[in-house]
Amino acid sequence: TAKRNGRQRSVFYEAGLGDAAPERPDPAADLAAALDRGELTVAYQPLVDLRAGRAIGAEALVRWQHPVDGNRPPDTFIPLAEETGLIMEIGEFVLRDACWQAARWVQSSSDPTDLLVTVNLSARQVTDARTVEAVRAALADTGLEPHRLVLEITETVLMQDRDAAAANLNRLKALGVRIAIDDFGTGYSSLAYLCRFPLDMLKIAREFVDGLGRDANADVVTRAIVDLAGALGLRTVAEGVETGEQQQQLAELGCDLAQGYLFSRPVDAEKIMALIAGSDAEASTTGPTAGPPA
Ligand code: C2E
Ligand code: MG
Ligand code: MG
Ligand code: MG
Repeated sequence: TAKRNGRQRSVFYEAGLGDAAPERPDPAADLAAALDRGELTVAYQPLVDLRAGRAIGAEALVRWQHPVDGNRPPDTFIPLAEETGLIMEIGEFVLRDACWQAARWVQSSSDPTDLLVTVNLSARQVTDARTVEAVRAALADTGLEPHRLVLEITETVLMQDRDAAAANLNRLKALGVRIAIDDFGTGYSSLAYLCRFPLDMLKIAREFVDGLGRDANADVVTRAIVDLAGALGLRTVAEGVETGEQQQQLAELGCDLAQGYLFSRPVDAEKIMALIAGSDAEASTTGPTAGPPA
């Protein structure tokens, strides 16, 4: 065995792969090590108020800067993190960064009234009771006012583990944070959850926004979502806005907020601070086809 060799060997060695065998990749261990080494960072994509024509906050999006592969997109490691449970640690890291950054944006802004930051919660986080304490602690330690934190969850999560999700969402709401449905209209939607859960915001999925002006059904569905949200007292955010035509149409439909490459790709927190503080005049006009000149 490895012990008798007097060296620490992996189980793969014991399984008889021999000295020449390359280290077998262990993606879960890689990810845990990446977190420890500080390879995970948080990027922020501006949220633009379509009426005011300015950034009022941002969505936090985790990034993995791998030393060899470069940027590894979240879709390649979030599912693994979910499976292994590491998402609890990663999620807390993102949450803390987001609260800390947003607290700084508030301080740098001359009018922070509407300022907010949104953070994605995975299924596991929504149903794990420890998330409530993690959120409470992040707010307390950073001084961010709870109403400025919006937690994004997908509708599929609400359908999967309804009771645990409802219990936690109620506790989170009691802290004063807000809840958004991410990618609205693309999960196993049941409109019943709009009555059952304490929601504040609907994020209109990119695929609907994408079809605006090109696909009559996308127009109708987007309008229906905005109207439904309005009637329920929920704010709407359009995801993946890439053209001025889409921006225009969303504004006309009465959509509240938008994010997308038209305005900005996800950037680092300093850039958001500059946008919000108004020191970056060019960017604060929200892109080439932005609304009213600053
Ligand atoms: P999401 O929460 O729906 O985030 C929006 C995704 O769309 C982001 O991809 C963003 O970069 C991208 N995007 C923004 N504007 C545009 C646009 O105009 N066009 C196009 N084509 N794409 C746009 P990203 O950062 O790769 O994240 C992918 C997904 O990974 C997220 O979808 C979210 O579900 C998940 N994710 C990201 N960060 C976290 C995190 O910290 N925790 C958890 N649990 N999930 C995360
Ligand atoms: Mg999101
Ligand atoms: Mg989304
Ligand atoms: Mg998504």
